[in-house]
Amino acid sequence: AGPLLAADSLHKAYGPTPALDGADFSIHGGEVVAVMGPSGSGKSTLLHCLAGIVTPDSGTITYAGRELSAMNDTERSALRRSDFGFVFQFGQLVPELTCVENVALPLRLNGAGRRDAERTALAWMERLEVDDLGGKRPGEVSGGQGQRVAVARSLVTNPKVLFADEPTGALDSLNGERVMQLLTDAARSAGAAVVLVTHEARVAAYSDREIVVRDGRSRDMERVV
Ligand code: ADP
Ligand code: ADP
Repeated sequence: AGPLLAADSLHKAYGPTPALDGADFSIHGGEVVAVMGPSGSGKSTLLHCLAGIVTPDSGTITYAGRELSAMNDTERSALRRSDFGFVFQFGQLVPELTCVENVALPLRLNGAGRRDAERTALAWMERLEVDDLGGKRPGEVSGGQGQRVAVARSLVTNPKVLFADEPTGALDSLNGERVMQLLTDAARSAGAAVVLVTHEARVAAYSDREIVVRDGRSRDMERVV
C-alpha cells in the first residue's frame, strides 16, 4: 500500500526567505516518523502544512488518496477533527476544566454524552498513567502529568495521525522520556501514525524513521543505531 500521508515538493515563504524550499515527506499508517533539524529550519511549518493548518505556496499533500488543496476549509477542518490528533509543546489544556473533562472534550464536541465521553477519556488516561488525576485541574498537576493528559486528549478520538510538535520541549529529560515512551506505546497500540517534530536526538530515538529538515529542505535518513 502507498503512504497514508505524503507531501511532494512543498514551498512556503512568509517573507523573502523560504520556510519550506522543496520539502518532501511520507508516512505509512502506524509509522512513527521524527522530523528533526535545527531551530528555524522549517519543521513546524512542515507539520502545519501536513495537518492542513497552513497552505503551502506550491507542492502537493495527499492524505488517504485525497489532495488537501482540493478540499475547502470546512472539509479540511472536518478531516482534522475526525482523523488527526495534536500535541504541542505546552499542553494547551483548558484551565477551567478538570483533567478528565479536558480529555473528554473532543468527544463532547463531536456530540458524545458526558458519561460515555468521560468513560472513554478515563480509559485513555489509564494508558497514559494519569487516571488518578481525573478530578484535578491542569494548574494542579506537574508539567509531565499535564503533557500525558494532553496526549490522552489527542488520542481519545482514535486519530489516524498524531501530530506532535516538540511535545517534550518544556520537560526535563526524565519526564520527557516518560512522555515519549507512553505516547509512542499508546499510539502504536492504537495504530496511529505519529509525526513527531523535535530537535532532540533522544526524543527522535523513539521513532521508526527520521527525516531531517535543513533550510526548508527535507532528507530521509537511515537510522544508524
Ligand atoms: P522550526 O519549527 O524548525 O523551528 P519554523 O517552521 O517554525 O521552523 O520556521 C521556519 C522559518 O519560517 C523561520 O525562519 C521562521 O521565522 C519562519 N516562520 C515560521 N512561521 C512564521 C509565521 N507565521 N510568520 C512569519 N515567519 C514565520
Ligand atoms: P511552535 O511550534 O512555534 O512552538 P505551537 O506549536 O505552539 O508553536 O503553535 C503554532 C501554531 O500551531 C499556531 O499558530 C496555530 O496555528 C497552530 N495550533 C496551535 N494549537 C493548535 C490546536 N490546538 N489545533 C490546531 N492548530 C493549533
